[in-house]
Amino acid sequence: MRSTLSHLECSRPGCAERLSPAPARNLCPTCQSPLLARYDLDLARETLTLDELKTRSRSMWRYAEVLPHAARATRNEGKKPRDRTRPVTLGEGMTPLIHAHRLGERLGLERLFIKDEGLNPTGSFKARGLSAAVTMAKALGAPAIALPTAGNAGGAAAAYAATAGIGCVIAMPSDTPVANVIESRAFGADVRMLDGLISDCGRYIAERAADEGWFEVSTLKEPYRIEGKKTMGYELWEELGGALPDVIVYPTGGGVGLIGMWKAFEELGAMGLVGAARPRMISAQAQGCAPIVRAFEQGAAESEFFADAETVASGLRVPKALGDFLILDGIYASGGEAVAASDAELMAACRDMAHLEGIFAAPEGGAGLVAIQKLAARGRVGADETVVLFNTGSGYKYADAWQAALGK
Ligand SMILES: *Cc1c(COP(=O)(O)O)cnc(C)c1O
Repeated sequence: MRSTLSHLECSRPGCAERLSPAPARNLCPTCQSPLLARYDLDLARETLTLDELKTRSRSMWRYAEVLPHAARATRNEGKKPRDRTRPVTLGEGMTPLIHAHRLGERLGLERLFIKDEGLNPTGSFKARGLSAAVTMAKALGAPAIALPTAGNAGGAAAAYAATAGIGCVIAMPSDTPVANVIESRAFGADVRMLDGLISDCGRYIAERAADEGWFEVSTLKEPYRIEGKKTMGYELWEELGGALPDVIVYPTGGGVGLIGMWKAFEELGAMGLVGAARPRMISAQAQGCAPIVRAFEQGAAESEFFADAETVASGLRVPKALGDFLILDGIYASGGEAVAASDAELMAACRDMAHLEGIFAAPEGGAGLVAIQKLAARGRVGADETVVLFNTGSGYKYADAWQAALGK
């Protein structure tokens, strides 16, 4: 089982740019849009089957055919991959899909599931994306990676860079939750605290990357974080026995997971492993930073910069996502929606998830639950539909937000 990665393709409709995966690449050189990885899916489908998967390792790398790897498979080729192209892994993925009976009963949903991404290495689903991105950065010879983050991406990047033995530079807003700062420093990253938002941190990294020799792994600025996060879609397919849920609720910041899962479903469709039906993709955001919700309500194809972004759900504090047009495309194409939650609402939802299901969620996961509550109240979700809520991170990293929510 080997990667069938064939080339990179520009994500912007109408831009026909196609590139080889090497050297390490950031945005489309023609139009500066995100690049997407493409595979030889005819070759992949020969081995990527539910039966075959039963024999594989319990990490996201079990879907090797459709994940990036420098040593890719071609037909009639028997060479062994060299050591330096081994995946950089800490056991990410294969998180539990929990049937939330008690919460479901309260909401009138028989088949409400929570995919608990808080159980990934470094406590969030950022592990998936950075496992893939660091794997390729290392294989393609980058001496160091660099990224801005408002939260969990820093710790994940630092951990994977540590095990890969490459450098890691992280720019964070000065009000980033302290756990994210501590873990990044513990893993040996060069952490730079800046006054401003993640967009200011992004500018800081972008301005220096070329001179400093850093390879940028900012959200969607390189093609492989999407590939790691898309494995959430493959896992749902595998866990549901080859079917997809009716509804997926996804707390959206940069939107990598939503774009990634949508891509996974397209690939599964192209391989003939699912039919034409797709889950409705529900994007959950915080009221204090809801650019996608605003764009959705206006029926717009792109979002506008959300001024004065502020929320305890630090992973959702992305005022303008680079891939906003891809996020909105997935929402519209799937018949989905975008829903905002206030900080008070999302922390109350976190308490419900903890009380009723024993899941200690990140505030971002709470925003997802609020979206379900609102949609269920408006009759937008059927009682017997299969609904999957992503709890994207662990509550353990948000001590301040939790302490405030629980009171004295
Ligand atoms: C980063 C993050 C998000 C947003 O993820 P995207 O895929 O960039 O939209 C949501 N929740 C948590 C806990 C995060 O760390």
